[in-house]
Amino acid sequence: MSLGSRALRPPDGFRHAPIRRGDAAYEAARHVWNGCHDRRPEWILPCASAGEVAAAVLFAREIVLPLAVRGGGHSFPGYGTCDGGVVADLGPLARIEVDAAGRRARVGGGATWGALDSATAPHALAVPGGLVSTTGVGGLTLGGGIGWLSRAYGLTCDQMIGAEVVLADGRRVWTDESEEPDLLWALRGGGGNFGVVTRFDFRLRPLPAGGEVLGGMVLHPATAAGRVLRRLAELADTLPEQASTLAAFVSVPPLPSLPASLHFTPVLALALCDIGEADEAEARVRPLRELAAPLADLVRRQPYVELQRMFDAGAPAGLRQYGLGANLAALTEGAIDLLSEHAAQRPTPLCQIHLHQLGGAVARVEEAATAYAGRDAGWVVHWIATWTDPADDERARDWAREARAQLSSLAAGRTYVNFLGESGPDAVHRAYGEAKHDRLRALKGRYDPGNLFRINANIPPAG
Ligand SMILES: Cc1cc2nc3c(=O)[nH]c(=O)nc-3n(C[C@H](O)[C@H](O)[C@H](O)COP(=O)(O)OP(=O)(O)OC[C@H]3O[C@@H](n4cnc5c(N)ncnc54)[C@H](O)[C@@H]3O)c2cc1C
Repeated sequence: MSLGSRALRPPDGFRHAPIRRGDAAYEAARHVWNGCHDRRPEWILPCASAGEVAAAVLFAREIVLPLAVRGGGHSFPGYGTCDGGVVADLGPLARIEVDAAGRRARVGGGATWGALDSATAPHALAVPGGLVSTTGVGGLTLGGGIGWLSRAYGLTCDQMIGAEVVLADGRRVWTDESEEPDLLWALRGGGGNFGVVTRFDFRLRPLPAGGEVLGGMVLHPATAAGRVLRRLAELADTLPEQASTLAAFVSVPPLPSLPASLHFTPVLALALCDIGEADEAEARVRPLRELAAPLADLVRRQPYVELQRMFDAGAPAGLRQYGLGANLAALTEGAIDLLSEHAAQRPTPLCQIHLHQLGGAVARVEEAATAYAGRDAGWVVHWIATWTDPADDERARDWAREARAQLSSLAAGRTYVNFLGESGPDAVHRAYGEAKHDRLRALKGRYDPGNLFRINANIPPAG
């Protein structure tokens, strides 16, 4: 075989056949969650082992094409795909091993939260993760990871105690607190910049006996949102860390799980979860259920894995999406008024605004201890523009951009990188802040000096 022809094809030995334009499997394989990113890579390489990931990395280098690494494919900016390049699809790398006694889980770099939660729940254990089961463990963890258990146990990246990584030169390294500790620091919030994580080792955290939590949503009329959020802001500071809230401006989707009389109604949904034992959780959560007269109270004791699927039907793949985020130190009157105005101006009923409550264990970790920036934020806002007609692209994106800009004077300096959207290098710089960005650049220079891993919230290598 000549060098030229070898260079055009991936090496033999992939367990799942490499997929190329024109192959029957290509159309299904090229799509990611966000329907805006209708891209056509040259090759999609499903990777089932660290060795195959290394082969994919070296292949992309050899043929000098861009490399996208796909975990769950749920990045809003479509970082799990690219035009004309190589996609290393980690989908088959999804093995999960649970060591319940040792409270540790080993998780393949392409696993989803649904699979991980299902594997740990029978032991009444969980890795604090995200809120939608189809999301990838990989991208969510490497950016930080916010969910129901964050206030009690910290971010997802705080649970990562070690990782196996394929570097840009194809080497496989292990990182933990004693081996390559700088790499672990960078992976805890620095995104996919430093290599491909083929295995995450996570600390497992306890759920109540039987794995059941108190959770669900209380739906309030959108017109009452200001009042509800003011009362929430008053209560939030004293809320014990076992309880967590997420307020969402949405139009009730027409789902069988939601009251038919409320379908399509604009509401403020106060979603919550409490991981205390039954009586104690009921008492703690009662004031949150009585902030105002609700349209419906759907809070009940349920398996944690079920709660983790509560938002799935509301986040189907294939719609057009654009997300932007901002951190808030506190939920002030000014922020509440602005968010209520933004909700009233949503360009389509599918658009949402989420307000995640943080604090607790997230804020107790030293800011400098991980690459994740902005641990002091009490709240994280996420404007999610969702629409179906490409003719609405600019109108929908502009709504999120203008909303983000209007709140900027009230926002904290840092932004959660997984909610950064399609922002350029300046926004990434600001998201981390000067000192952290400098350290990340130096580590990028050490681990990926040629910036092979650049389809992400990119950190340019120093040096
Ligand atoms: C429906 C939905 C719900 C969400 N809910 C939450 C939530 O509750 N909490 C929260 O914090 N965030 C949430 N997010 C944001 C989410 O964290 C990011 O979109 C994240 O990037 C998704 O990861 P992924 O692996 O699915 O995405 P991908 O598009 O596959 O990857 C995203 C980025 O991570 C990199 N990457 C992925 N896996 C690896 C790996 N193993 N090694 C190296 N790099 C990798 C990719 O190269 C890419 O740059 C949500 C997003 C969506 C779409």
